[in-house]
Amino acid sequence: MKMATFERLEEQTKQYKKTRCRYCDSPLPESFLDLGFSPLANNLPKAEEKDVEEFQCPLRLVHCQVCHLVQLSHVVPPDMMFAHYLYVSSTTKTFQTHFAEYAKTAVSKLKSKQNALAVDIGSNDGLLVSFFIKEGIKGVGVEPAKNLAELSVRNGVPTINSYFGRETVQMITKEYGKASIVTANNVFAHIDDVQSVLRNVNDLLPDNGIFIIEFPYLMTMFEKMYFDMIYHEHLSYIGITALDYFTKRFGLQIFDIQPISSHGGSLRVFIQKTGGGREISETVTDYLKNESAHGISNEKNYREFSVKVANIKTEIMKMVREIKANGKSIAGYGAPAKATTIANYCGLTKEHIDYVVDDNSLKQGRLVPGCRIPIVSSAHLTEHPTDCILIFAWNFAEEIVKKMDPSIKAGKQFIVPLPKPKIIL
Ligand SMILES: [Zn+2]
Repeated sequence: MKMATFERLEEQTKQYKKTRCRYCDSPLPESFLDLGFSPLANNLPKAEEKDVEEFQCPLRLVHCQVCHLVQLSHVVPPDMMFAHYLYVSSTTKTFQTHFAEYAKTAVSKLKSKQNALAVDIGSNDGLLVSFFIKEGIKGVGVEPAKNLAELSVRNGVPTINSYFGRETVQMITKEYGKASIVTANNVFAHIDDVQSVLRNVNDLLPDNGIFIIEFPYLMTMFEKMYFDMIYHEHLSYIGITALDYFTKRFGLQIFDIQPISSHGGSLRVFIQKTGGGREISETVTDYLKNESAHGISNEKNYREFSVKVANIKTEIMKMVREIKANGKSIAGYGAPAKATTIANYCGLTKEHIDYVVDDNSLKQGRLVPGCRIPIVSSAHLTEHPTDCILIFAWNFAEEIVKKMDPSIKAGKQFIVPLPKPKIIL
């Protein structure tokens, strides 16, 4: 990037720079990882907008040396990111199974189901709440997106179309009373002012209530090199050490942790008010000890992660350049948010990748943000065959290759970028 462009973008985005830690308010140090300027991963420009300049913001990670929360250095206002969100239905089989089990587990932690209420923050189309109702307790969803809240109500799930603020809590307690269970799944890491969330959750919970959150686990990202989970919507990269510190500040405590397989290694964490009556599981101490043993407080580890990320970029680009030098063509497979991070960080462009296929029809006819590679349907693989396929949705690489039509697969090379770049035949 030219120096003048760098300075201009740095200047334009300095208003979004965070100076204090979201969990403990300590001043934040310099970043340990810099993925460059990145466009918003879920704002996919339309094909005809190929010449319109996109908003770009630094994608950098900082590590709070006091509470050890890893977080983005810059916070883009949510209305810039969620206004163009392409809705993908959550009602796939995997989600159904996940939420059915989730509701059962949560309800099993209650002493009594009588008059119990569950509130889901960021309830989407109301799927989890519907499973709480099936478990025989009352349920209410809180969903800021109007279209989703309406869909949820049409599905018969009581839903409040609002952000989870003080007024929403007052509305719920007035109409339904306090909530024995409050849940927040894959939203907790996306909210900037989580201190307000904890204050409001505290008001909503009775003394023996439970707050349950799910989020992608920081240590899995470090261990497996999943740096493509870093994008602007994902503000916090949470470990148990930071969460333990944070919850205690608000009179709450973690009492159990369950690993879950969705999103390539997430955690489900159970929280109660201090003295809420449930015994603290040994698992909590095990997680804290394990993070400490892996050097959660050691700055050196964060720098090492950064070096490894840079090495992966070098390896990917070396593979791609060799393929192109041999006169071969490459298509991409999958255009999830993570594709934006990998493609832009590595510097992949249309010069390297002809097109990216994605089965989501809402994404077809659009472009991968930043690098502007066109997104098309998988029919393109037959109509405009390429020699190689780079699988951006690498976490499904095996299934993608297995399911692919043998006539498309024949003689192709597949590039899997993470956790370690490799070519499979
Ligand atoms: Zn902190």
